[in-house]
This record gives sequence, C-alpha cells and structure tokens, in this order.
Amino acid sequence: MARPKVWLMRNYHDPQIEAYLSEHCEVIVRQSNVTPPHEEIFKMAAECDGFLPEGIDIIDAEVLNNASRLKIIADRSVGTDNVDIPVATRNGVLLTNTPGILQDACADMTFALLLSFARQVTRSDRDIRAGKWTVFDQTPWLGLDTYNKTLGIFGFGGIGQKVAKRAAGFDMRVIYYSRTRRPEAEAELGAEWAGDMETLLRESDYLCLHCPLTDETRGVIGEAEFALMKPSGVLVNMARGAVVQQQALYEALEANVIAGAAIDVCDPEPMLIDDPLLTLDNLVITPHIGSASAATFTAMGMMAARSIVAALTGEPVKNMVNPEAMANW
Ligand code: NAP
Repeated sequence: MARPKVWLMRNYHDPQIEAYLSEHCEVIVRQSNVTPPHEEIFKMAAECDGFLPEGIDIIDAEVLNNASRLKIIADRSVGTDNVDIPVATRNGVLLTNTPGILQDACADMTFALLLSFARQVTRSDRDIRAGKWTVFDQTPWLGLDTYNKTLGIFGFGGIGQKVAKRAAGFDMRVIYYSRTRRPEAEAELGAEWAGDMETLLRESDYLCLHCPLTDETRGVIGEAEFALMKPSGVLVNMARGAVVQQQALYEALEANVIAGAAIDVCDPEPMLIDDPLLTLDNLVITPHIGSASAATFTAMGMMAARSIVAALTGEPVKNMVNPEAMANW
C-alpha cells in the first residue's frame, strides 16, 4: 500500500522531524524558508495527505475545496487563524496546533519586550552603535519602572497566565480581561478581574495582548482604545498583528497618545522596511519570535509531526482544533 504523503512546508526544521515523519510517511520537504505561494498550496492539497505548515501559511476555502486527499493540517503554532476552520471541518480536514509547550517561551519574550521598551534596551544599543554615547549622561535613556505598576492582560489563557506569574516576581499588580473569567487562576496568580475592557485599558501601565486572532478580536485595539490608555501606557503585542489597527498604532505612538509599544507581531509580516512605524523611537519590534527558543522551536515541530503520524496511522490524535472533522473523513 502506498505510504501517505506529507508536505513539510519549510526546509529549516530539525532533521529529527523529517526522520520521524519518514518512518511512517513519504515526506516532501519544500526547499525554501519562505511561505509557499497560494497556487503551490492549492496544488499540493490535492496530492498530499498531511501538511506541516507555519501558522502564517494561508490555507483558505479555495485550497480546502481542492483538498481531495488532505486529511490533516498540523500547524506548527498555537494560533490557527491561517486556516479556514469551518471549511476544513466540512471537508473532513483535521486541524491540530501546538499548545502548552510554548507558553513559557512566549511569556519570557513578553517580558523581554516589555523591559526592552521600559528600560530603553534596544534604543540605547542602537544609539551606542550610532556613536551617540559620548559622555556620562543617562538622561537620553531614562526609562519606566515595572515594580508597583499595573500589568493588564487581554486574553487570560496559557500564555497570559504565564505572564501573570512572571509579573508577580516583578512586584506588579496584575489585572486581566478575557472571554472567560478564571477564578482559580486569579487565586493562584494574584490576578484581578478587570470587569470590562475599558477598565483594563484605563488602569494598565503595560497592556499585554495574549488573545487569538478571531472575528471578535480583529482590530480590537484602535484609536478609541489608545485614547482610553494612560499617556504613560505601553502596549505589548505578543498575539497577532491584526488584533491591533496598525495605522492607529502609528498615530498613537507618533502623537504620544501612549508612551510606547513593544510588538512581536504585525500585519503584514514581515514588516515592510518603509513602514512608518520603523521611523519611531518609541517602538520596539521583534520578528514574530515569541515562541522561538531553540528547544521550543524543535518541540513544536515534533508535536506537529506526531499529530500527523497519529492521524495517518489511526492512533489517537492530540491537540485537535476541529475534532468534528473526523466525522467527515
Ligand atoms: P489560549 O491558551 O487559547 O488562550 C487564549 C485566551 O484568549 C483564552 O483565555 C481565551 O478565552 C481568550 N480569548 C479568546 N477570544 C477572546 C475574545 N474575543 N476576547 C477576550 N479574550 C478572548 O492561547 P495561548 O496559548 O495563550 O496563545 C494566545 C495567542 O497568542 C495565540 O492564539 C496566538 O495567536 C498568539 N501566539 C503568538 C506567538 C508569537 O510568537 N508571538 C506564539 C504563540 C502564540 P477562553 O478561555 O474563553 O477561550
């Protein structure tokens, strides 16, 4: 019997991932580190049983309606906004993701960004390399404190709660607003329920975004929300770029409506080099590397590979986003 065919959609994965998949499947490795063009994804959907994409590879209804053979998409990410989930479910294409294992890495990176802005780490580094450190004068780089400040979390799931845990160590007050209230986590982490979005915006010194990108959260932070934040407030976006209206972010930073922003994600990605946001000194930006410690990067790839093998060999599959799809296999 022919072995199932799996498309590993990048060439940069740890070799153990291809080796593991090859024990069970025929593996096609795309020899590129770039997201495949739509027509290539469309074509491969009719030829492969499994896809291992990144969470930015768009797998839309057109692709899924051509997916005569495809049984599983195993996103190497926790966010699954790249896939048209209702169509995947209808067409019997199972979607899995990689939750849990990246929460600590993302929470660390949230604090790395927050502190980079608060204590001027990236800006002062840039200034030194540009020859601007010519005298002992700290005043160009005076920063913001974190202790006794309020850290607001929007989206109090796995990553949001790990951020709350870290914030306790920084002597910060933690408030949150999320779709679901979590009394147990509140008690464990000393976090307070903000009650509504407006309170979260008004009271946060640092507002950290940790929600998924969905129809409800797309563009949820815009001009009106920036206006509610403190002028000394800082936005940290570790979620998805499109959760924030990017033009409104530029205008809020440029006019000092808020003090600054530290973002790991933007829209589109990569950010274009002539994006006006890159002209601003009160922005810190990293290239969507929230989960990307070396160990977590490989662990996510292996988790996705295991989901593919389990699905294609009839074993129980973990981390299913749309288990209902199984009924349509
Ligand atoms: P998670 O455990 O599913 O937590 C997400 C939280 O957001 C949940 O508490 C959820 O509430 C809440 N939420 C969902 N819709 C909401 C809404 N409309 N309004 C308010 N809150 C809402 O996911 P996670 O592992 O923490 O990851 C969160 C997101 O981070 C991912 O979806 C992904 O987009 C992003 N991410 C980014 C990176 C990066 O590299 N920058 C890495 C990993 C993840 P419920 O409990 O009610 O569902």
